[in-house]
Amino acid sequence: MGEFDLIARHFARPTPQALLGPGDDCALVQPSPGYELAVTTDMLVEGTHFLAGTDPRDLGWKTLAVNLSDLAAMGAKPRWVLLAGSLPAADEAWLAPFAEGFHACAQAFGVDLIGGDTTRGPLNLCVTAMGEVPAGQALRRSGACLHDDIWISGHVGLANLGLHQLLGQLELPQRWQRLCIKRLQAPQPRIALGLALRSLAHAAIDISDGLLADLGHVARASGLQARVVLNQLPHLPEGVARAEALDALLAGGDDYELCFTAPTSQRLALGCTAADLDLPLWRIGYMDAASPVGDVLLLGPDEEVIEWSRQGYDHFSA
Ligand code: ADP
Ligand code: MG
Repeated sequence: MGEFDLIARHFARPTPQALLGPGDDCALVQPSPGYELAVTTDMLVEGTHFLAGTDPRDLGWKTLAVNLSDLAAMGAKPRWVLLAGSLPAADEAWLAPFAEGFHACAQAFGVDLIGGDTTRGPLNLCVTAMGEVPAGQALRRSGACLHDDIWISGHVGLANLGLHQLLGQLELPQRWQRLCIKRLQAPQPRIALGLALRSLAHAAIDISDGLLADLGHVARASGLQARVVLNQLPHLPEGVARAEALDALLAGGDDYELCFTAPTSQRLALGCTAADLDLPLWRIGYMDAASPVGDVLLLGPDEEVIEWSRQGYDHFSA
């Protein structure tokens, strides 16, 4: 099977949202009038972002899902994606399930794969995703306001526990194993939440590197300090060592839940949003004035500052 057969068989699909899909030098798209384009790209490298031997169907899903998660964090509606892949071989047994997982995610969130690039090389997958947001309504990291509440969605930390289980660094109780590994390997981009937050939140980010690290980006961009209150954090999974579960929640990446700030006046509305979406939303702290002490503080029961050594993942940290 040659390069073009491979693309035709596994990646070219109908693209009802594009003027022109795969097959020419460029794809052609037409954004809706009055909307801004939100554009993002994310690369997945074997050994860094996923373990060698990861189920190809899950990997196909995740390759797209992590990009859609960035659109969710901006409040954008996903529309078009490009896939650039370097593959060691045209291996049908790997390609077919990979493409199936990718297209399943595309279909679930209503995006068209409009083009890409396919080369031979070490396994490396790169998606560019484009979405739309009404002009001026994108949720930027810099939008947090003084005294905003800080919220997170879902069950942050499970993916990191799943990774520790797969690496043999932790033995999770049986009932948590499958769920945590699923969260790691097939995350759910919080698109519907991102759309709902356009009118409720001031700032948002998706938690890909770790809660403290990602919340730190919001605090710095907004010129404020984020204060996370230990007593307000979601319940930790039962039967998992507390220190490990708390570390996974605070500093583990890969959950692709959203962290956002909203004025206190939106608490009730956010409660309704959580019910509508059947997705738990946790109010975990508040934004305070910028302080030389740090961008993110973790506060204990007596308002004392708790030092947490790990903040999140950084590819180039020493
Ligand atoms: P060019 O050489 O003009 O850059 P290519 O030969 O790389 O074009 O690709 C041919 C067509 O197939 C292009 O329209 C490109 O967007 C599309 N394409 C290549 N790889 C993929 C892929 N993995 N998924 C979807 N479309 C792809
Ligand atoms: Mg090319």
